Amino acid sequence: MPETQQTFDSYSPADGRVLAKFPLMDSTAVAEAVDRARIAGSWWGDLSFRERRRYLMRVKSILARRAEELAEVVHRENGKPTDDALLEILLSIEHVDWAARNAEHVLGRRRVRPGLLTLNQDARVSHQPLGVVGVIGPWNYPVFTPMGSLAYALAAGNAVVFKPSEYTTDVGRWLVAAMQEAIPDQPVAQLVTGDGSTGAALCAAGVDKISFTGSARTGRKVAAACAESLTPVLMELGGKDAVLVDAGADLEKAASAATFGAYHNAGQTCAGVERVYVHEAVYHEFVERVADKVRALSPGTTRESAYGPMTMPQQIDVVRRHVLDALARGGQAVVGGPESVGDRVIGPVLLTNVPEDSTAVTEETFGPVIVVNPVRDLDEAVDRSNASSFGLSAAIFSKDRRAMERAAARLRVGSVTMNSWVMNAGVAALPWGGVGESGFGRIHGDDGLREFTRTKATTRERFPLPVALNITNFDRHPRAADLVRRTFALVHGRS
Ligand code: NDP
Repeated sequence: MPETQQTFDSYSPADGRVLAKFPLMDSTAVAEAVDRARIAGSWWGDLSFRERRRYLMRVKSILARRAEELAEVVHRENGKPTDDALLEILLSIEHVDWAARNAEHVLGRRRVRPGLLTLNQDARVSHQPLGVVGVIGPWNYPVFTPMGSLAYALAAGNAVVFKPSEYTTDVGRWLVAAMQEAIPDQPVAQLVTGDGSTGAALCAAGVDKISFTGSARTGRKVAAACAESLTPVLMELGGKDAVLVDAGADLEKAASAATFGAYHNAGQTCAGVERVYVHEAVYHEFVERVADKVRALSPGTTRESAYGPMTMPQQIDVVRRHVLDALARGGQAVVGGPESVGDRVIGPVLLTNVPEDSTAVTEETFGPVIVVNPVRDLDEAVDRSNASSFGLSAAIFSKDRRAMERAAARLRVGSVTMNSWVMNAGVAALPWGGVGESGFGRIHGDDGLREFTRTKATTRERFPLPVALNITNFDRHPRAADLVRRTFALVHGRS
């Protein structure tokens, strides 16, 4: 690092000690990384799917062999217990594997059927790499979240320049080092380090797409910056996910899922359970079950704690504000309360009967707080869930499969799980993304591969049509159009 280079520190959320120092990269440093990526990307994009797959399998293998080491880095810098860190690493391994194995099948050039007027054409669709994809990631799932873009963008033949959150830069460094070890030939994966200004520089650096994961607030800034150069963007933003519990649901299962979904990772999960709407017939029993589970949680800063400290200190004030607002408007604290909000670790808070206009219901809390409210039926639960400006995902618990399917179809979210929580993020073949303030575009699955490509259509004439019959020709026979019209009436005229 040159002596004049500005730097920033990465801290332990457990005790605030400095863990590492990184360069605060400016627009020149970012532009240089993008230039290098452009050259590397052209080499990488020219490889066959099979060759890229071989390299990506090496990335996967490093992640699998050194998962414990990476989990330790995540625990140190993000604060989550090592088992939770391992969970996101294991899920990431499956995504790298799926993207590498399926890229050819999803993106390979394929023939499509021509129409009646174009019968003589060999028509094909291909998906070509964009070139360089800028990936901007958050700190809450510092492995799993960026990997949903990095692995899929690489598998689609792009080079990537990754800007991790300043709060988890060491995790980003580890990931990119692993990719560079697996692909030593060219810098197809690069790290740029810094704060929001470095992210902004990446948006302005002439990349071919920005894949952004973070808050809706920053997402707006990123979209505005990218609009200047018409750089396409993929937006994976926040959420205010609801769990809907029907009268006949397995309450024990629903309570376990809601508790894990709400408090896991200290509630710092985009798809974290922040609201629960429970059928009034089982409301009290459900609240009691959740309360029992919540009281048994012991958060802290060790590797084995139920969940860890808040990674980003500013979020602590947001959590306090939401709890106070809920109580001021008549909500009840069944477990914990404002006193649970500590300097680093926040004890679990369970709120009930919170008015729907409270910030604890309308805004993303991103902390270990859950709001449980009663509803008349599943329909009302769907209406309340849909009233949010966010729409990332939702979960439904019921014994009535039809009712669940109906509710799932009506929910205004990117994905729905039935009788479980967040399982779709783990199914690599399923797309992931939101609606409304939760963003647009999709990572994971077929859609997630196509996001990082430009679609190209080609036709090749297989045989010439007689000039007289070719209606896209001034030399056509005067009756050619009429002949084609009559053929169309025969083929398409029947209903
Ligand atoms: P932020 O929006 O604060 O930051 C996200 C990233 O953007 C960080 O790397 C940040 O850098 C960077 N950044 C900040 N300002 C700019 C800018 N002007 N231009 C470009 N980049 C910038 O989000 P958090 O890191 O706090 O992450 C939490 C949010 O992410 C939550 O809302 C959560 O719900 C959402 N999220 C969504 C997911 C999904 O799949 N939909 C998955 C995971 C999280 P720095 O940190 O260095 O300031």
